[in-house]
Amino acid sequence: MLSDATKANMKDRLAKNGSTFIALHAIEEMAELFQAILKNVNHGKDNRAELLDELADVKLHIHFLHLIYGFTDEEVDDYINAKTMELNERLAQ
Ligand SMILES: [Mg+2]
Repeated sequence: MLSDATKANMKDRLAKNGSTFIALHAIEEMAELFQAILKNVNHGKDNRAELLDELADVKLHIHFLHLIYGFTDEEVDDYINAKTMELNERLAQ
């Protein structure tokens, strides 16, 4: 769970940089995570610290995207739960 200070910092950053800049930065962070996963899986690199750093960056930017697009954590979590149930039902057939 994000602290109140983190949430306040995020709102300040969003107000200063704008939603387009933050959304593009989210894509950049996802690409960095993508590269870290590839190093780990394809090249067998022990890069746990890098994976943690990039996962944190992506998770932070997921929270930014929630703010930008007006989704609550609960709304997204409920959607994930529904999708997971739907997938489980499809796999059980
Ligand atoms: Mg990063």
